Amino acid sequence: MSATIWIDGQYYDKANAKVSVFDHGLLYGDGVFEGIRVYNRRIFRVEKHLDRLYASAKAVWLEIPLARKEMGRLMEEAVAKSGLQDCYIRLIVTRGVGDLGLDPRKCPKPSIICIVDDIALWPADRYDKGLVVISSATPIHHRESVSPRVKSLNYLAHILAKVEGIAAGVDDIIMLDPAGFVAEASGENIFVVTNGTIKTPPVYAGILRGVTRDAVLELAREATYVTEEVPLNRYDLYTADEVFLTGTAAEVIGVTKVDARTIGAGVPGPVTRELARRFKALATRGD
Ligand code: PMP
Repeated sequence: MSATIWIDGQYYDKANAKVSVFDHGLLYGDGVFEGIRVYNRRIFRVEKHLDRLYASAKAVWLEIPLARKEMGRLMEEAVAKSGLQDCYIRLIVTRGVGDLGLDPRKCPKPSIICIVDDIALWPADRYDKGLVVISSATPIHHRESVSPRVKSLNYLAHILAKVEGIAAGVDDIIMLDPAGFVAEASGENIFVVTNGTIKTPPVYAGILRGVTRDAVLELAREATYVTEEVPLNRYDLYTADEVFLTGTAAEVIGVTKVDARTIGAGVPGPVTRELARRFKALATRGD
């Protein structure tokens, strides 16, 4: 299958989908994006993703040159054009073309890119077996630097953490914030289950507020679990009955080893499996 790509008003095939070398998205990572799933041709929680995209842009002083409604329509059109039932949308807004200085005022018009394609982060067996992870030495950005709540094109900290995971031969990494609290994985939010209570770090501490995270919190409450948004330490991970990650691309996936400590029985636990099942049902239902 070939990706469907729209750039600033025109569709291109993969070989011809190109941006300028003077685009500040490339030169400086100056831009914002969203990763969105489509289930049965329906865009999952499109309004939440648009909320976050426009808020990210506002936070970095970037005016998106397309009204929100039009952005929604663009995604619908690109998905229809792709012919795919289940796929992944990468929506990107860059600062646009400027000169070699970093002044954003030199970029008169932001660029909008919409890619419709497939995504798979890990082999399918990891969803049954769970992931082996380490905590990385590289922290996420300080909340008053590039706010982790902005889904920006600056992923180098997460990539450096991922490189630590690659060097250690594990599936993924858990990043701490600059104060040493557990923050998130390379592209996922993190949850622990301890004595039946489901806990996840609060967003105000400076993490990306995942659309999947929020959906899973809602599902957990519906299923009458006690949920808490509280700061977590690595100790809380090591001693949890279950650990799992949530993300648009990852969906819900168990973690069975953290820094060589086996979590629970060493397989994804019952709460993780139940929430993964409930999430699949919700996503395919389309609310
Ligand atoms: N944290 C980071 C750093 C991410 O890149 C993502 C993926 N967007 C998430 C968390 C999960 O967010 P979502 O559930 O909205 O995909």
